[in-house]
Amino acid sequence: MAETYLGENIKKLGFGLMRLPMKDGEVDIEQVKRMVDTFMSKGFTYFDTAYVYIGGKSEVALGEAVVKRYPRDSFVCASKLPLWDSVDKAKMEEILQESLDRASLDYYDFYLLHGLNKDSAQRAEELGAWAFVQEKKAQGKVKHIGFSFHDTPEVLDDILTRHPEAEFVQLQINYADWDSENVQSRACYEVARKHNKPVVIMEPVKGGSLATMTPEVQELFKSANPAMSVPSWAVRFAASLDGLVTVLSGMSTEEQLNDNVSYMENFQPLNDEERKVIDRAVEILKNIPTIPCTGCKYCVDGCPQKINIPGIFSTMNHFSMYNNRAGANGSYQRVTRDGGKASDCIQCGQCEAHCPQHIQIIETLKKAAETLEA
Ligand code: SF4
Ligand code: SF4
Repeated sequence: MAETYLGENIKKLGFGLMRLPMKDGEVDIEQVKRMVDTFMSKGFTYFDTAYVYIGGKSEVALGEAVVKRYPRDSFVCASKLPLWDSVDKAKMEEILQESLDRASLDYYDFYLLHGLNKDSAQRAEELGAWAFVQEKKAQGKVKHIGFSFHDTPEVLDDILTRHPEAEFVQLQINYADWDSENVQSRACYEVARKHNKPVVIMEPVKGGSLATMTPEVQELFKSANPAMSVPSWAVRFAASLDGLVTVLSGMSTEEQLNDNVSYMENFQPLNDEERKVIDRAVEILKNIPTIPCTGCKYCVDGCPQKINIPGIFSTMNHFSMYNNRAGANGSYQRVTRDGGKASDCIQCGQCEAHCPQHIQIIETLKKAAETLEA
């Protein structure tokens, strides 16, 4: 008989509570309750929140929509401990207790150090965060401990080698980043598997980007299976991996939820033909022309308008590849918050002389202004 692992009996769709539907600045709790009811009625049980999600309102929503309405043994839930600079040992205690109180819980089934990378992993060491979560596990305030992760496979390997007490790891995995240089989904997944850690997958739809896609990719998916939505390919790709606790989807609408549960209720892993369709989609993505900016920032220092040129180019590239208008708008706001917009360029030419990629920055910024400020 195959060995059982943590999460084996959990269905492979988890409800991410970070992008809940909002109404007048508050979580639309009645809508969330309806979504939770549909989700639970189909046999799904995993809810994922964090101390910081929606300024704490996500944990409150977990309490209102799930904990107060369902028997405690009918669901499992996860929350996460932030490792901000201001957090010390006493503060960790306060944060966990607040996370429990907000959701009206006595314990979390899964508790994660939130968003470890090289720096925050070091901070976790200094704070004694690993000893803290183990102590809370011994006290029964949390059942299983792990961490969510955003860095290279080498850093992941280092953390898992130092901390065999981690029972699971939460990783960004999606088909577009499976072999990408920055996220390295495949390599991180393989490190987790090498250490025999079950994986919770986050961002299988790449923050919504794999739900939009260019018309060519949409057509590819539709012709392969007209009944399946574009985002379903991304969620099913992730859920087809071995050794998962679950695949999180941050659901914001009943429509998204209904779509997700429709194909995940009786989930079948992708077959060979479907994998070839995904491979073809990745090929199409790779061949979409993008601005060859490497993000070196040599152009930025002398810009009199303080334009975040690589940030704007990255936003343009993402939009060209995924056709995600909402994502591009949010990203453009972020990259222009502390400096000029693309349209603020006064064409002084100072940046172009410094670009090792010989990008026609002025012309490209004009196109960016047309696209992103429309
Ligand atoms: S040409 Fe535009 S982007 Fe380049 S340095 Fe001058 S103002 Fe900045
Ligand atoms: S110098 Fe060129 S490659 Fe480097 S960040 Fe600026 S635009 Fe991108």
